[in-house]
Amino acid sequence: MSPDSPTTILRSIFGFPQFRGLQEEAVRHVIAGGDALVLMPTGGGKSLCYQVPALCRRGTAIVISPLIALMDDQVAALRQLGVSAAALHSECDPMAARETAAALARDGLDLLYVSPERLLGGLIERLEARRIALFAIDEAHCVSQWGHDFRPEYRALACLAARFPGVPRIALTATADQRTRADILASLAMPEARTFVASFHRPNLFLAARPKERPRAQLAALLARHQDASGIVYCGSRARTEQVAARLGADGVPAVVFHAGLARAEKEAALRRFRAGEAVVMVATIAFGMGIDRPDVRFVAHLDMPDSPEAYYQQIGRAGRDGEPAEALLLYGIEDIARARHFLARSQAPQSQIPALRARLETMIGLAETGSCRTQTLLACFDERLEGPCGHCDNCLAPRPALDATVPAQQLLSAVYRTGQRFGLRHVVAVLRGEASEAVRRHGHDRLALFAIGRERSAEFWHSVGRAMIAAGALVMGEGYATLALDAGVARPYLRGERIVRIHAPTQAAPAGLAPAGLAPAGLAPAGLALAPARSKGEGALFERLRAWRKQTADAQNLPPYLIFHDVTLHEIATLKPATLAALAQVRGVGAAKLQRYGKALLAALSPG
Ligand code: ADP
Ligand code: ZN
Repeated sequence: MSPDSPTTILRSIFGFPQFRGLQEEAVRHVIAGGDALVLMPTGGGKSLCYQVPALCRRGTAIVISPLIALMDDQVAALRQLGVSAAALHSECDPMAARETAAALARDGLDLLYVSPERLLGGLIERLEARRIALFAIDEAHCVSQWGHDFRPEYRALACLAARFPGVPRIALTATADQRTRADILASLAMPEARTFVASFHRPNLFLAARPKERPRAQLAALLARHQDASGIVYCGSRARTEQVAARLGADGVPAVVFHAGLARAEKEAALRRFRAGEAVVMVATIAFGMGIDRPDVRFVAHLDMPDSPEAYYQQIGRAGRDGEPAEALLLYGIEDIARARHFLARSQAPQSQIPALRARLETMIGLAETGSCRTQTLLACFDERLEGPCGHCDNCLAPRPALDATVPAQQLLSAVYRTGQRFGLRHVVAVLRGEASEAVRRHGHDRLALFAIGRERSAEFWHSVGRAMIAAGALVMGEGYATLALDAGVARPYLRGERIVRIHAPTQAAPAGLAPAGLAPAGLAPAGLALAPARSKGEGALFERLRAWRKQTADAQNLPPYLIFHDVTLHEIATLKPATLAALAQVRGVGAAKLQRYGKALLAALSPG
């Protein structure tokens, strides 16, 4: 329909000056009629890979998506850009669905979002009579039975190859492992597809992990760094989400709960609040996430450890989709390790999968404990090598030297044994540190030869040694995670000092997390890191004014604020202070439609009084 070049479309419709990374290559390949598999991390910019070709090629582009919320969001975003887009799914109101069908029949749609069920349940016959620009298969990992989101309907999409010869197909996913990749290509019958694999490095994500000591205070410190921002707090159980949210609420933090146990209406209300609010903290189990497009999530905290690096990566990936700095803080403790192993031992998963699940859990534990660059360690889990340390994770900013803890490990294991293998780590550490608490005295543990043998070392140090021994399997936790016992076989070489134990010195100096966005304490700010530019006070005030304008504008249309403009765009406007429509058009994220729709109002909001 449009003879425009992809770059022209990118600039005029989307308002972006250039493509990112592999986008351009993928876009050109699809425009030329080739099939493609695009692997990009969350926030990598997958949507443009099919949206631009959709506008460059003649006919309607069909986008197959498993999630209604995601479809509606994309359609609303495209309409804001002046693109004719619509969705067909089980929750469309019948009137709108009829209008969409009519628009489709007169070739009046650039993009049509559909669920696989809808497509295969009757729509596909109608499409055969139309000119189709392309098929985009979003969240394509759903086709793979190895993935956690397997959708049997996705398998049937293989028929598109035969029924629409010559129409390019582009499959997109953020799940990149080799097996899933091969599975997608085979299941969608697209052996000739070119695969585009982007780096999974997200330089704007600041990773940190900390032993869970005082989770409430640790979380409060994180929230204090992100006062006017939205974030996600992941918890390991439904009960814990309720608890944490109640506490946050009591402290005046606007917290929302989401977990699979909520009634449907409650879930929807929670999602609505999260999408519409300027600053909301979502406290959720892993049930929350897929289909959340909010670009300005500034932090993701894990109060409990995820059970694999894949899950961890996916969850932290929900932060900073807009490319602005965002923080991911993982709190982990010995209970997490014990609980995850316990679940695994009772897992219903097929026997053949258990070793792989166990390996992923152990890798996750290693990631939490590592003293090396976290970004590098995480990417290595996905077979990606990052040349050199990232320079902006907690370990890069405040290195923790490796300490030889062979002798302390011996002492700790002995202490567990001498106290009868009936106590928890806290008690054992108290004995080692010579703390004659009531419980220690009552059990006569202050009379043990080991009592106070490690008094010169901190409790944090001893907890580190304890975690290392639990991670190694020399110590196992009892039911209820209240007691520690030895695994005699594994513990023996440690007890004899035959196996070297290294731990990473717990740091006291480093802040309980990181401080992105130029807030890094003096001395910790890494050289050469693309932190957000320092913003002056005046710009801050202006940004707040723009934000207020955006909220009002969004509410009037019943849309989430980020669909009007992203924070990145508002920041750029606050910095550049454009005085004319022409100057405003130069700002990233201001395309022709938005300029026309909001330009005047924005300029008015910019000038005071
Ligand atoms: P994904 O689907 O891969 O998670 P999105 O398509 O939602 O990522 O894009 C993530 C963010 O990056 C969006 O806010 C989008 O507007 C922005 N973005 C994508 N491509 C570009 C680009 N070439 N220039 C500027 N911003 C972009
Ligand atoms: Zn690093």
